[in-house]
Amino acid sequence: MKPLVAIVGRPNVGKSTLFNRLVKRRLALVEDVPGVTRDRHYADAEWGDRAFTLIDTGGFVPGEKDSLLKQVREQAQLAVEECDAILFVTDGRAGLTAADQAVAELLRKSGKPVVVAANKLDSESVQVQALSGEFFRMGLGDVLPLSAEHALGVNGLVEALLDKLPPKKEGEDAEKKDDDAIGIAIIGRPNVGKSTLVNALLKEKRVVASEVPGTTRDPIDSTLEYKGKKVVLTDTAGIRRKSSIAHRVEKFSVVAALKVMERSDVAVLLMDATEPAVDQDAKLAGLAEEKGRALVIVINKWDLIGTDQRRQEAFREALKHSLKFVGYAPIVFTSALTGSKVEKVLDIAVELAEQFRYRAPTPQLNRLLEHMVDANPAPIVAGKPLRLYYIAQVGTAPPTFALTCNYPQRVPDMYKRYITNQLRKTFDLRVPLRLLFKERPG
Ligand code: GDP
Ligand code: GDP
Repeated sequence: MKPLVAIVGRPNVGKSTLFNRLVKRRLALVEDVPGVTRDRHYADAEWGDRAFTLIDTGGFVPGEKDSLLKQVREQAQLAVEECDAILFVTDGRAGLTAADQAVAELLRKSGKPVVVAANKLDSESVQVQALSGEFFRMGLGDVLPLSAEHALGVNGLVEALLDKLPPKKEGEDAEKKDDDAIGIAIIGRPNVGKSTLVNALLKEKRVVASEVPGTTRDPIDSTLEYKGKKVVLTDTAGIRRKSSIAHRVEKFSVVAALKVMERSDVAVLLMDATEPAVDQDAKLAGLAEEKGRALVIVINKWDLIGTDQRRQEAFREALKHSLKFVGYAPIVFTSALTGSKVEKVLDIAVELAEQFRYRAPTPQLNRLLEHMVDANPAPIVAGKPLRLYYIAQVGTAPPTFALTCNYPQRVPDMYKRYITNQLRKTFDLRVPLRLLFKERPG
């Protein structure tokens, strides 16, 4: 898994300014996915050959009615519990406040790698002047002068951070650890029934029993055999249970999902039938799409709604509408409590895992391309007809297709959607697909 780095600090010190500076390029890229509700509080960042996921804890307000001091402390606590390293941002012009000192103490006790920045020092002379004494008494090592707004000291800060990260593990670049096993991550807001579902699937209480608070930082994995296949189920509720703070922070379900998505093939997104598709559900679905993971949408607690078939269809339609950007994802109605349809979740997840690694035969792909161009001629772009020459599958997990054409930069979104839909239909792929457009060589 990529290391998780949290930015902590009290409000207004410049956390989100720093966050945006560190992930700028990536965010621009990600915005291409239409219709996805984006949460600006986490993003992948790359620096040289190291990749990490950055979280702005300013986005996670534990108790909105709590005092500032308590909020800041709890955010820092969350970061300490869940992340591999911490960027602690302070305001170098305002000096240390009580909230800063509380955070510093918490971080010091945690023993986690910490890099401290004194922000808003917008010129070198100010930087030299400000760093005389006070900050060093925090006992967190060097304090690095920073101007997030003017991009001063950013490189040094990141270098110091990377120095403190655990060394890059063998195979960190690899998509997954165990290539034979199918990785299924159970994600969702608190209380939608994730643990109940996992327990129902395992038909024993192993998930809960193996959980010893504070002993492991890692998500809770259970391995099972299903129809001759090895399946690793990851229960993100397990991560959350270890921390009473995280339990109160609903938005935290995104961080938990982030942690497990990287090494899973399929995300099973649970929603509560009695309060469906709220903002946070959409964010989790958007995360699965962004990470290019297969997705099963599970509407749980259906026992509380009843057995009316028409109701289910109406529900399905409404959901398809509000989650258009993952329209390919199958929807299952379950009751984890009674066990109704829980096997079906596993069935579909295993099937999607296969589609996720599907390789389409090249001759069939090229026949499809011919057919597509005949049935729906490519539009005129830049005053000339767009021409598609070849198609080839260049990757799996998710299936990725490269098309050569005359104007790769100018393929209209509508035409991309048309191609994607045709690929889905032809090969029966209910997983995210990626298209790359390339210029014809020569
Ligand atoms: P957050 O609440 O910690 O996320 O803080 P923000 O990133 O929203 O920044 C709070 C305010 O400080 C904004 O008005 C920023 O423009 C400003 N700010 C952030 N970084 C700098 C900096 O390096 N120098 C100066 N002068 N202002 C900054
Ligand atoms: P998690 O936080 O997502 O892991 O949710 P839990 O599995 O802890 O479930 C939260 C609450 O919802 C518990 O009281 C469960 O008994 C209840 N629950 C879970 N699944 C169902 C279901 O299908 N139907 C009903 N009626 N209640 C459920």
